[in-house]
Amino acid sequence: MKLFDTHAHIGLINEDPIEQLIITKEAKQAGIAHIVSICNNLQDFFQVYNNLSTAKHVYHSIGVSPSEVLHPGHDWELKIEEGVSLDRVIAIGETGLDYYRKFGDKNSQIELFIRQLELAEHFNLPVIIHNREAGRDVLDILKTKLSPRGGVLHCYSENWQFAQEALSLNLYISFAGNVTYRNARNLHETAKNMPLDRMLIESESPFMVPSAYRGKRNKPSYLGATAQFIAELRDIPVEELSEALYQNSLAFFGVED
Ligand SMILES: [Zn+2]
Repeated sequence: MKLFDTHAHIGLINEDPIEQLIITKEAKQAGIAHIVSICNNLQDFFQVYNNLSTAKHVYHSIGVSPSEVLHPGHDWELKIEEGVSLDRVIAIGETGLDYYRKFGDKNSQIELFIRQLELAEHFNLPVIIHNREAGRDVLDILKTKLSPRGGVLHCYSENWQFAQEALSLNLYISFAGNVTYRNARNLHETAKNMPLDRMLIESESPFMVPSAYRGKRNKPSYLGATAQFIAELRDIPVEELSEALYQNSLAFFGVED
């Protein structure tokens, strides 16, 4: 059984370069064949990228997350351009809107999000989308600005009705460890009913640890617990679910096994 962790903040799990490599190796041994290391900020990106230069099973995203809206750096677009020219950089993100933590004002968040959607189109890359309590605005923007390569709503946090609207835009929906939480009924309903060919999974490590590992710091090697939970929800063998999610990940990121 092979899994594809579509979203891990390797740089936040551990700052030590050696430890970062160990995390990705340990994940491989646990059946996580590929990981997408998510950009935390543009300084950190190049550091983590270099630390993981020998980990060829790790891909990278680059972008400015809503938490960086107040200080993306004057040359952030140039940094993204530099990043996307590197080997194994396969997505723009995470970008999006976060009205929960209220970074900067809404308009600056929206401006930064739209500009990155344009860059994704320009560089012909898919987009990893962060949405926290901003679902309406995120979808309204994507209706006109989503690039042909598409996007994923990562760490899905909305209900089934919202998912249906997102699916009508051809978005992928990615579940993190919070889908395993007992009271997450909206997520259970969505993960059970949505078409399998639009689903991805992610660790979102070091956050959102699956309930089977409650109390621990999350890491990619725990991703199997999330796959297991969704397979049970859908009443299919976990091998069948994993294979479908793996193929979806290859298709979405445009990579070969
Ligand atoms: Zn994230």
